[in-house]
Amino acid sequence: MTSSEYGPSDHGTQAEPGAYREPEIEGQSSAGPEGAGVSPMNTLEQVAQLVRTCTDCPLGRGRTNAVPGEGNPQAEVMFIGEGPGYQEDRQGRPFVGPAGKLLEGLLASIGSHRDDVFIANMVKCRPPGNRDPSPAEMTACTKYLDRQIELVNPKLIVTLGRFAFGRYFPGEGITKARGKLREKDGRKIFPVLHPAAVLRREELRPTMIEDFKAISEILESGMEATGMEPGVTAPEAPQPAQLSFVNAPGQAAVPAAQAETSTVNVEEAPRPEQLTLF
Ligand code: SF4
Ligand code: URA
Repeated sequence: MTSSEYGPSDHGTQAEPGAYREPEIEGQSSAGPEGAGVSPMNTLEQVAQLVRTCTDCPLGRGRTNAVPGEGNPQAEVMFIGEGPGYQEDRQGRPFVGPAGKLLEGLLASIGSHRDDVFIANMVKCRPPGNRDPSPAEMTACTKYLDRQIELVNPKLIVTLGRFAFGRYFPGEGITKARGKLREKDGRKIFPVLHPAAVLRREELRPTMIEDFKAISEILESGMEATGMEPGVTAPEAPQPAQLSFVNAPGQAAVPAAQAETSTVNVEEAPRPEQLTLF
């Protein structure tokens, strides 16, 4: 294992819960009633507005559109990716390119949908040429993600890939850590691979499918952080329709069309290697 497989080591300690302080926005008057120089982040929309005009790191200069993140404001599960790619930068939305299609397929395989969950990224503006975000860029941007996590207050955070994993567990390798439920600063963290890595390395797909199955089992099982191994089968597998993935029942259930087009069923789950749908 090389050090390049590790998440960055200098940004993971400043995201303590409750540590959020409203940012001073230089040269910009407040959008809210609070007054000069300080913009509030009381709602997800306020966070998104600040992100769209942010110039706190060099990535702000190269973007077409900032990608604040989106989804159910009361989601039980929040996914954290790395940063916008080409399509995301063009559309201002997270995971709308090839990696996004895979993520949507994985969500469908466990009876969920992107509208049920919240999807955000470590950095909100595209790194040029899809290079890795730098530690300084992630540090500059973390205030927005910190606040999104506080506002959504998800029961489970699923980190996608090594950068989001490194936010919580700097210095550890994702290959070893993936598929095991962890706890950090009072939050449940479930690390999985990045969908783009699965697109590059087809042999990782069964592992990713297993890890997503584990996500639905974790939610059903009461979320004990016991270092759950991948592939653990819950005694009674829930039906997809039972998995709403939202804190408040009855909000944003799995759309019927989505459920129908998915040939993957948790009850009668095919072996991962049989899945060619996504
Ligand atoms: Fe601001 Fe984050 Fe964009 Fe950098 S990546 S300009 S910190 S929103
Ligand atoms: N990869 C990411 O990490 N985030 C996106 O939003 C899209 C691709």
